[in-house]
Amino acid sequence: MRNRDTQQKFLIDSCDVRGHVVQLDDTWQDALARTEYPAPVRQVLGEAFAAAALLASTIKFDGKLTLQVRGDGPVYLLVVQVTNDGSLRGLARWNDVPADASLETVFGEDARMIVTVEAKRNAESYQGIVPLEGSTLADALQTYFKTSEQLPTRLFLAVKENTAAGMLIQKLPTEERLVNDSDGWQRAAVLCGTLTDEELCEDGSELLLHRLFHEEQVRVFDAEPVRFHCSCSRERTDGMLEGLGKTEVDSIVDEQGTVEITCEFCDAVYNYDKVDVAALFKGVATDVVAPLADDNGADVTRH
Ligand SMILES: [Zn+2]
Repeated sequence: MRNRDTQQKFLIDSCDVRGHVVQLDDTWQDALARTEYPAPVRQVLGEAFAAAALLASTIKFDGKLTLQVRGDGPVYLLVVQVTNDGSLRGLARWNDVPADASLETVFGEDARMIVTVEAKRNAESYQGIVPLEGSTLADALQTYFKTSEQLPTRLFLAVKENTAAGMLIQKLPTEERLVNDSDGWQRAAVLCGTLTDEELCEDGSELLLHRLFHEEQVRVFDAEPVRFHCSCSRERTDGMLEGLGKTEVDSIVDEQGTVEITCEFCDAVYNYDKVDVAALFKGVATDVVAPLADDNGADVTRH
């Protein structure tokens, strides 16, 4: 079964556990279409796509969630963003990455994982930063949950040629527990531990959940669509150029004839010639100096 691009919530009532499963086909292919990623980078980027979708599914927010890993290793930036309506975009930047490298070798010794939620309601916004620990990104995320969240959480991530997928289970908060079976959490974690990468990527979510939990009482909710979608726009690029200031933008146009800005998430190109720039700065008297970066801090190239 292909082109699922969904996330799905489930409850294992008999274990007092909730979970989410995410399977990305076209979304993952669209992310890969932009850049020729070497295998080790593809692997961590795919895991991060699934992980970001899972993280977003565990919280209620109206805005966007950004999962980043920054370090001084060969992969020095990994960023995936997901909005509350299921749009995902992401990229990685790297230098030479050795094949079969450990997580520490890929990202460097002092790498950090940063989770940011920018929500329309300020109360929902936050940022959590943890050292990148463990042998996989799933391990590192479990550490993140341990330090930042409270509820025991397990994550499983897998990447194949055409699919990036993940499953997350979380112990229900005390007030939501139905059976208070003290072995429930352990049982669910052991069952999930039997999951193979192939099953996670290739089986439909219903089959997957049935195979794992057929001896438990499971409720599966409707699948929600997710997709690759970039939030860049001409308006946002206008804003970036305004932030850069008229003097600087004029000097680029004088030098190069046009200003060309390429979005690194989706390869969209925004072009400004002399007339566009004049229109943009019409009536603007003073310059404001700000770095040329989009709203999530990822650089946008200037040609
Ligand atoms: Zn874009």
